Amino acid sequence: MAELVDTTTDLLQQMIRNACVNDGTVESGHELRSVDLLQGFLEGGGLDVQRYEPAPGRGSLVARIQGSDPNAPKLCLMGHTDVVPVNPGGWVNDPFGGELIDGEVWGRGAIDMLNLTSSMAVAFRNLARQGYTPRGDLIYFAVADEEAGGHWGAEWMLENEREAVMADYVLTEMGGFGFSHASGRSVMIAVAEKGAGGVRLTVKGTPGHGSMPLGADNALLKAAEVLRRLGAHRPTPQLDDLWTALLDTLGVDGQLRSDLMNPERVWDAAASLGDLGGKMLHACSHMSISPNVVHGGQKLNVIPDAVHIDVDIRTLPGQDADYVRAELGDAIGDLANDVDIEMLNDRPASRSPQDTPMWSVIENAVGLADPAAKVEPSLIVGGTDARHYRPHGAVVYGAGIFSPEIDMADFGSRFHGNNERIDVESLRLLTDFWDHIVRDFDGTFGD
Ligand SMILES: [Zn+2]
Repeated sequence: MAELVDTTTDLLQQMIRNACVNDGTVESGHELRSVDLLQGFLEGGGLDVQRYEPAPGRGSLVARIQGSDPNAPKLCLMGHTDVVPVNPGGWVNDPFGGELIDGEVWGRGAIDMLNLTSSMAVAFRNLARQGYTPRGDLIYFAVADEEAGGHWGAEWMLENEREAVMADYVLTEMGGFGFSHASGRSVMIAVAEKGAGGVRLTVKGTPGHGSMPLGADNALLKAAEVLRRLGAHRPTPQLDDLWTALLDTLGVDGQLRSDLMNPERVWDAAASLGDLGGKMLHACSHMSISPNVVHGGQKLNVIPDAVHIDVDIRTLPGQDADYVRAELGDAIGDLANDVDIEMLNDRPASRSPQDTPMWSVIENAVGLADPAAKVEPSLIVGGTDARHYRPHGAVVYGAGIFSPEIDMADFGSRFHGNNERIDVESLRLLTDFWDHIVRDFDGTFGD
């Protein structure tokens, strides 16, 4: 398979050079460039592809290898083609050069996630070329607009072209990161992701003349107290099976582990770690509350009667809108009658089960690349395209594999960061990984 890694490397370099930078505007992204590239690449392997363009330039591509059994579970390998913007001044090499330097491919997207999008395409084309027929349909889905929430990508496709991309199992990004610790080695496979809810709090007061403020019912002063309470509020921690899996993954033990497992102490224990994982541990164990926008007041001499506070809320699996309202109510306390709560949007957390044949298939595939590693389920605190599929009933995992020499700190600094790059050994492991998974998954059906 040595020539396959060269193919993956080359395809990745070309995708980086396409610079499909998504700044959140519909005019950005230009993913059609990589659709053209992937179409040429896959058609070279005898595959038919479908192209979709819901807005000018915002292209996605789907290729399919028909399965032998229409009733067998379908598997979709999904990779996004867009990348986030760069700050070129922070890079030592051209962020869109796709250069291969000392065994590493440099450029925006090398980690997030063109490494997967390219290696999936190479494994997929290779299977097609070999005449491989899976039991259920095998789908390759190169999708636009993940970095801005998927509106012109996964969301649009599932709403408008569901038949083309729907599958029983979907594999995508945010898995395969490894940790070494005193009690061994762990590799994370993502099974869940937090929900996101925007909430607008309207703090009410009574208008009056700014020249006589004594005892005034000033909405801005009340809002200041509401904000102070939101900042001080500690939602009930959720220390569930994903939480213990995270502590296992990180190899946390001793006093720190017992503090992090204690609902009374987990907040302070996370805070004591600060940027060294504390923020992440906090986010993985609590609904988070971040008041990020305030609007209020009209005129210098008018006591304000309304202040709007927009709060970014991220929920854990199982925490619904009622839970959010109850926590906000606890936080606001005796000011509740002065505050209206309006849900701006409510995207629930999502989670896929682990007791599936695919989970064992992934464990095996990880084991081939990294025999010492134990596979642990993980929670993503941000969002990926997985969230669009799970409500349709698909089992979605964030999967992957990387060479054991890269640790989580490397990934952390390169994700959306400067000097993003991937080693060729990881590209080799990834290309093999998808091939193993497809063949192994078929093997789980028996005859
Ligand atoms: Zn990504």
